[in-house]
Amino acid sequence: MDLLIKNGRLVLAHEIVMADLLIECGKISRIEESINLNSIPRIDAEGAFVMAAGIDPHVHLSLPTPKGYSSDDFHSGSQAALAGGTTCFIDFVTPEKGENLKTAFLKRKAEVRHCYCDFAFHMSIVEWRDEIPDEMEVCVNELGITSFKTYLAYQKTVGISFELLEKTMNAAKNLNVSVTIHAELGNEIDQMRSEAIAAGQIENSFHAKTRPDFTEYKAVEKVIELVKKTQCETYIVHVSTAESLKKIQQANQDGIPIYAETCPQYFTFNDSVYAKEKSQSNGFVMSPPIRSEENRKGILNGIIQKQVLAIGTDHCPFSTQQKNAADNFSEIPNGAGGIQHRLALVHAAFVHTNQLSMIEFSKVISAQAAQFFRLENKGEIRIDFDADLVILKPVSESIGQQKLYSKSDIDIYANEMIYAKPAIVIKGGYIVFQNDQLSEKPPRGKYIHRK
Ligand SMILES: [Zn+2]
Repeated sequence: MDLLIKNGRLVLAHEIVMADLLIECGKISRIEESINLNSIPRIDAEGAFVMAAGIDPHVHLSLPTPKGYSSDDFHSGSQAALAGGTTCFIDFVTPEKGENLKTAFLKRKAEVRHCYCDFAFHMSIVEWRDEIPDEMEVCVNELGITSFKTYLAYQKTVGISFELLEKTMNAAKNLNVSVTIHAELGNEIDQMRSEAIAAGQIENSFHAKTRPDFTEYKAVEKVIELVKKTQCETYIVHVSTAESLKKIQQANQDGIPIYAETCPQYFTFNDSVYAKEKSQSNGFVMSPPIRSEENRKGILNGIIQKQVLAIGTDHCPFSTQQKNAADNFSEIPNGAGGIQHRLALVHAAFVHTNQLSMIEFSKVISAQAAQFFRLENKGEIRIDFDADLVILKPVSESIGQQKLYSKSDIDIYANEMIYAKPAIVIKGGYIVFQNDQLSEKPPRGKYIHRK
């Protein structure tokens, strides 16, 4: 698809330029002061910011849980993503124990229907078998997967020990790919949860109390030792405490290849959300939990200090019915949505308040994830890169005033104010969102085979 964008303020990797941008065959082909081609459809961006569309490195669509699937499938999840200026995301393959990784991959890929975003998968390592290193090699060389996900939490299901994590890291290092980690001390948390439930402490505040700060930063501490030992490129997902971020930053400065992701919920809310009545606080039950105000500020500052490689959402909403069906906090399905709001929330917290420039904003919502996770030709406005773009417009409204595309009836961000949102979203040269509407037939997204 060809398209000419006139008069935009283009957010490039190192500068912002007033220029015209030409898209040919879905790729950015020219960036010049003035391009005049009357035969090609055009958009007048009128001095608005034009930036690379968002990339969300952490989403869970159609996630199976004991309380049913998460609310959004690839269809509704990708619609919400596009409406929020995100055109690409990375979801997960979670094999059953004993299941060949490739088999699990093919099954997961078959679940992707009517997805309008380009997508990739992290492959989860949930156990160790002798065949795992060979199967990991197939993932990398045949299936286009360059990141493996591990959980230190959830020891009764997908969680693995530090010992298995080290094996995974060594195998990943041998294959020259990365490991991503949900870093919480699973056994300690499981024990605290059982004790709380046994003592009748079933309110949602105990969800946070049984996952105290140290269960994250102590796990991070141990992970840093393993990264030092294995030299495996490691990415800690959804960092939620100031102390964890500090440790990761320090290790990174010492030359240890470890990087942090955080999510909007950890700089937007504090743990007072768990004091709300159950129906209100159920939406905030997620792991790690929403933390103290001190932690919230620490995460906020860490982003300003550029200690975070990427801001993902961990998008995993459930319905009120699913959340309410639980008798105690430990049975509430974990997660919340956010894929539609990520750009606007990061903009409101950091750009609107003059704490990040548009260039830094673009890095943390798109470019750095593209580089780290090897999403080739994505994440920047550059010649020959995919024409995945967002043209922003200033607004002053609450998130709840928008049309929401998630199928969940819970939106924890509904009361948050935003000051910019997509006027137009372009994917592969096609206008996929405009005038607060998704286009009628956006082209299907494609699986990104990473190298
Ligand atoms: Zn997650």
